[in-house]
Formats: sequence, C-alpha cells, structure tokens
Amino acid sequence: MAPGAMNRWTKSLAEARPAAYWLEDPGRPHPEPALTAAATCDLLVVGGGYSGLWTALLAKERDPGRDVLLLEGKEIGWAASGRNGGFCAASLTHGLANGLSRWPGEIRTLEDMGARNLDAIEDTVARYGIDCEFERTGEIDLATEPHQWGQLRELYRAMEEHGLADHVELLDADGVRAHVDSPTFLGGLYDRRGVALVHPAKLAWGLKRACLRLGVRIHEHSPALSLRQQGAGVHVPTPYGSVRAGKVALATNVFPSLLRRVRPYTVPVYDYALVTEPLPKDLMASVGWRGRQGLADLANQFHYFRLTADDRVLWGGYDAVYRYGGQVRAEYDNRPETFAALAEQFFTCFPQLEGVRFTHAWGGAIDTCSRFAPFFGTAHRGRVGYSVGYTGLGVGATRFGAQVVLDLLDGEETERTALRMVRSKPLPFPPEPFAWTGIALTRWSLARADVNGGRRNVWLRALDRVGLGFDS
Ligand SMILES: Cc1cc2nc3c(=O)[nH]c(=O)nc-3n(C[C@H](O)[C@H](O)[C@H](O)COP(=O)(O)OP(=O)(O)OC[C@H]3O[C@@H](n4cnc5c(N)ncnc54)[C@H](O)[C@@H]3O)c2cc1C
Repeated sequence: MAPGAMNRWTKSLAEARPAAYWLEDPGRPHPEPALTAAATCDLLVVGGGYSGLWTALLAKERDPGRDVLLLEGKEIGWAASGRNGGFCAASLTHGLANGLSRWPGEIRTLEDMGARNLDAIEDTVARYGIDCEFERTGEIDLATEPHQWGQLRELYRAMEEHGLADHVELLDADGVRAHVDSPTFLGGLYDRRGVALVHPAKLAWGLKRACLRLGVRIHEHSPALSLRQQGAGVHVPTPYGSVRAGKVALATNVFPSLLRRVRPYTVPVYDYALVTEPLPKDLMASVGWRGRQGLADLANQFHYFRLTADDRVLWGGYDAVYRYGGQVRAEYDNRPETFAALAEQFFTCFPQLEGVRFTHAWGGAIDTCSRFAPFFGTAHRGRVGYSVGYTGLGVGATRFGAQVVLDLLDGEETERTALRMVRSKPLPFPPEPFAWTGIALTRWSLARADVNGGRRNVWLRALDRVGLGFDS
C-alpha cells in the first residue's frame, strides 16, 4: 500500500460516520411499547427483522382470526434487516451456483419458487403501499479477474442447460462497460429479473406498519428470555412480562437461538459496507449506470455495490470476519481496517470517482451456516418452528422461510415442505478452538484462490467434497 495512496483513502473516510446509513433515515418509526403484562396469543413470533415480520404478516393473511404477537428484543429492523445492502434476490439458495451444487435435482423448482417469492414481495410492497424504494433493476455479476470470465461462461451454460437463462445475458468487457464503466470489469452476467433493490430499513418499517394494520400486536425492547412447554402451549418470559402462546416462530437470525440445539449450525460473520455522498450529475455520467443495476464481483472475497435513491454508491463486502468465540457485539460493527481496504478497492474500481467522500461506514452480523442457504425445523412437538442460516442472502429468502415455518407449525404438507432443501440440514460447526481455526484456514485459502487464478488448495477441495464451506 503506497503511503500517498493511503492518505487519499483515509481522507475519503475522514467524515464517515460509524453508523448504518439506512437506519439514520428520519422516517424511522417510534418503537411500540415493551411488554409489561402476562399476555396470551395463538402465535408468538420472536424477532422483529424480515423473518419475524414476514411470519407475522403471512400468518395474519393466511388466517385473519389468528391472534399474533411479535416480540423484538431491541427495535424493529435494527439488526441485519436494517443495515444490509438491500439486494432483494429471487435466489433461495445463496445464488444459483450454490443451489446447483447442492440440489441439482430440484434447482428448477427452487428457482421457480424463488422467482414467485420475489414477485410476491413486489406485490406486497405495492399492496400495502410500503415506500421502500423498490426497484426491479436486476443484477450484473462481474468478472474482474480472467479466471472469473470462465466461471461466468460456465454458469451461463448451466443456466441454459436447466432452462434458466430466459432473462439472463452474458456480456463481454465492452458490453458490461456500456452499462457501468470501470477499467476492472472484464465481463458480466446480467440477470434482468432476478434481483430488486430496496431501502432495507424502510422495508422492515413498512412491514411493521402492515403487520400493525392487520392487528399483529408488536412489543419492542422486549427480549424473549427462554421458552418452556406448558400444557398445550409454550411459556415465554420477558424482563417485565410473559407470553403464553399456542405456537412459537423463532426468527432470531444470528442471535443465540432459544433452542440450544440450533446454535451449533450457525456462526456470526461480520460484513461491512460504505456509503458515499450523493454523486453529482457529471460524476454519475462518468460511470454510466443508467440501469441502476445491483452489481457484485465473483471473487471469493466479493464486493457488492449499488446506487441509493439519491445516487450515493453503497460499496460493501470483501472481508467476512469471524471472531473467536462467535459473539455478536456492537463494537464489532466498526472495523477501521476493513473500511480502509474497502475505500481503496472502491477507487480501484472507479478511479473516475477520486475525491468522492464516504459519509457512512458500518458492519453487521450474518448468520453463516455451512451450506449458505437457510434451514428449518420444529421442536416441542411441533409447537415451535424456526428458520435460520440465510448467510448474507436473506432479504428476499426470509419471506420464503416464513412460509415454510408457517407450513410446519400449521402441520401442512406443501410444495415447500416437500423440498429436499427444506427437509435437510447443514453440517454444524465444531466448538472452539476448532471453529476459529477451520474458518481462519478457509478464509486464508479463499483469499489465496482469488489471487491464484481461482485455484482451490487441498483444504478447500476437501471441504468441497463434504459439502462444507464458508461465505458471507
Ligand atoms: C452488512 C450486511 C449486508 C447484507 N446484505 C444483504 C443483501 O444485500 N442482500 C441480502 O439478501 N441479504 C443481505 N444481508 C443479510 C440479510 O440482511 C439477512 O439475511 C436478513 O436481514 C435476516 O433477517 P432476520 O429477520 O432473519 O434477521 P435480523 O434482521 O437480524 O432480525 C433478527 C431480530 O431478532 C431479534 N432477536 C434476537 N433474539 C431475540 C430474543 N430472544 N427476543 C426477541 N428478539 C430477539 C433481534 O433483536 C433482531 O432484531 C446482509 C447482512 C448484513 C449484516
């Protein structure tokens, strides 16, 4: 890293607030009152991110007579749901390549259900008037290293083979640079339908309003402390109250599950992002980007980037940080060395934007599981259901996960519960110190592969053979 250049990047970050850009929106709603009494309900939802909100909303849509109560430990949308990149993808499997490698036999069904899920999100946003800056822009996956161009072509061939290439276009360097101009782009795969961009916090707040409108009772600053079967129901205490529920849906993502047995299946991995000041018209013109697509490169340590409604650039990814012991802590949201690396990489990608300042820099925890795609289950004789393990692609997939949990709790056999993907679970992570050591070795190997023409070392090949992995 040249010292002069270091100063330039530091300068671009000098005024960046260590806060999630989206959550600073003046439209942030006041929290609903905490639970201070003993309550009863048919369905208790624990967790007020997208998973919990979709579960509560869909439960009411399925059966308006159902009495639904939602407990959120802090405030609706404060965690991953309010601080993500806002890529709302159709994929239910953390991308097609991951889905193809794990469930080749049902990939068409999974892709079809994912497309329907994204359409249903778009429909819900319109139906409830949720102002979340929803834009069905699609996404371009980018090759920025020669070996990635081969990967893109291979992926495109697989899409054609499975009849999944309808809305997808393979672009060479000129083709992709005609959309968005960077000297680092060597090619791209443009999926015109499979991704929408949203303002993530506004989506969570809008879903909250929709839930309230349908009669869901929401209590914020009300962590569920434990759960215990009691007669035909489940008893859940909070600091100042308690709930007796017929059924419970756990939507607690990366936070310690109230079901201990679920905990070894996920680890918290920190992902980071920067947001620039709004780009003036001349700088926007220097990049192009008139289609406002979501963008992501193909590296193992990948970047994702997009425009906001007022033409800022959100630039995130690269580092995926696991800390020994697997804790979720507020201080981990701020990581200056990652912010500096991201800033450097941003100006390498867009040298024409030199001089642009970042206004926000933040991080958040992702519920990584070893297959990168969510898994589902029930406990306490079918009275408690959960979905977790979205691994950085949960903005859209949590709606599907909510449907699965409701299917399971309602005891319904559906096209969703028939899926192998829904019936199977990932391999759990080992306890410390093995988890940290294994993840550190995997991260090191993935970073090496990125600068090594994509070649996977013995360790990665061994993990591939048993279907284990690490991603964000
Ligand atoms: C920086 C970052 C970028 C990302 N970018 C993208 C992206 O572009 N596209 C994408 O698809 N995905 C992305 N993700 C992932 C995506 O944000 C998540 O998959 C999704 O938000 C998960 O929603 P959730 O409701 O399961 O979890 P969360 O939003 O984390 O919500 C869980 C909630 O449960 C509450 N809770 C936990 N325990 C309890 C308890 N005991 N009692 C009461 N409440 C409790 C928490 O307070 C929290 O509010 C990103 C994540 C991060 C961190």
